[in-house]
Amino acid sequence: MESSIPKNIIVIGAGIVGISTALWLQRDGHSVTLIDKEGPAAGASFGNAGVLASGSLVPVTVPGLLGKAPKMLFNPNQPLFLKWTYLPKLIPFLFKYLKHANANSVERISKGLSQLLHDAPDQHLALANGTGAEEYIDLADYMFGYINEEAFMSDHFGWDVRKRGGVSFVKMNAKDLGEYDVNLKGRFGFGVQCKNHGRIKDPGAYILSLSKQFVANGGTISIKDVSNFEIEDGHCKSIITSEGKFVADTYVLTTGAWSGAWADALGVTVPLESERGYHIEFVNPSITLRSPLMVVAGKFVVNSMNGRLRCAGVIEFGGLNNPPAKAPIKLLKKQMAELFPDLTYDRIDEWMGHRPATADSLPVIGVSPNAYNIFMGYGHHHVGLSGGPKTGRWLAKLAVGAPLNVDLSAYAADRQI
Ligand SMILES: Cc1cc2nc3c(=O)[nH]c(=O)nc-3n(C[C@H](O)[C@H](O)[C@H](O)COP(=O)(O)OP(=O)(O)OC[C@H]3O[C@@H](n4cnc5c(N)ncnc54)[C@H](O)[C@@H]3O)c2cc1C
Repeated sequence: MESSIPKNIIVIGAGIVGISTALWLQRDGHSVTLIDKEGPAAGASFGNAGVLASGSLVPVTVPGLLGKAPKMLFNPNQPLFLKWTYLPKLIPFLFKYLKHANANSVERISKGLSQLLHDAPDQHLALANGTGAEEYIDLADYMFGYINEEAFMSDHFGWDVRKRGGVSFVKMNAKDLGEYDVNLKGRFGFGVQCKNHGRIKDPGAYILSLSKQFVANGGTISIKDVSNFEIEDGHCKSIITSEGKFVADTYVLTTGAWSGAWADALGVTVPLESERGYHIEFVNPSITLRSPLMVVAGKFVVNSMNGRLRCAGVIEFGGLNNPPAKAPIKLLKKQMAELFPDLTYDRIDEWMGHRPATADSLPVIGVSPNAYNIFMGYGHHHVGLSGGPKTGRWLAKLAVGAPLNVDLSAYAADRQI
């Protein structure tokens, strides 16, 4: 990437999307300040399941969801939760979100996801190259465990979508699974091995390592809460923060689930919500999995990380400000005890975070319709760790007006959904 005139650029939000954008801009010779209200990896990028999910082309909103969701909400053994007091605020979003639970929308969404995700492991390798953070990247398969073959067959809709999207996978019976990884022996009746995936062995430490390199190369990381943009005649003059105004040539907004606060000011038509997710982590576990594992019946992921076994999942609608709930953690613990009754460990750590969920399951990536010098990259749902580096690479080109031979219209901020 080359651009002739170095610019002063402020990137707001130091999750995986923000740090990726900042590093690619820095490599292009620009002066970059990365602002975060808490510091690097304070949001969803810290606690996710760590899967580089290059084949995750199926959104949550699949045909049949409308019939299933209400029953799931009343069953504490299902991974869908709602803070009922939040429902009135949620209804307008839900209306638009559930509109996409049909085959045509899924096909369109999967194309947008494929463009973003298909080369996720390579994008991470390119991002981390020479930073020291390479040590956290592990090229691995992504395994799916089913109770039996019948359960796999009843999930054919998603596998047909993946197949059309070019995802390469191999079906396995119980014996194959046990030979693939002794830790899977006897746990599932059927499975699927997805190739060309990967994992980050500690997402929080990975981002901190990338951030350290960004600072070592002259970048600035600043802890401030951004509250507004000062826009005049289609130009952003400054941003307002907890410590006053800051001025740059160009601004990039990568604030994940918190980005909705500025939608109206920035001309964004895509509704955004937090899909709260949880993890429990078994410290010093007796089991190390060869590859990340999706436990399909419970819709949660189990992944081995440095010295820990992380189990992540659950969708809870409850907004950005409500405290974590107990029921999702209880469910994850119960499911793990059932799946790995032989697991031993020193202690369990717990976490809740906010997936940035747009109403049509595709992120917002591109320029603000209201200010030519504000660019945005947020709304990556369940796949932001995977798609963050590529989003950052695209944003780094857009922000300096460099040519980008990619059709980003699926991610436009003012798309009609
Ligand atoms: C349980 C769970 C499991 C997941 N598993 C996976 C997975 O296996 N693979 C995958 O690809 N994805 C996964 N995801 C999704 C992924 O974690 C997110 O999509 C991704 O981390 C979003 O990154 P981000 O940089 O957009 O946002 P974040 O990481 O949330 O970063 C946003 C940053 O903006 C900052 N910020 C917010 N407001 C302001 C403000 N006003 N001023 C300054 N700073 C501000 C925050 O402090 C935060 O640091 C999972 C998510 C969850 C919750």
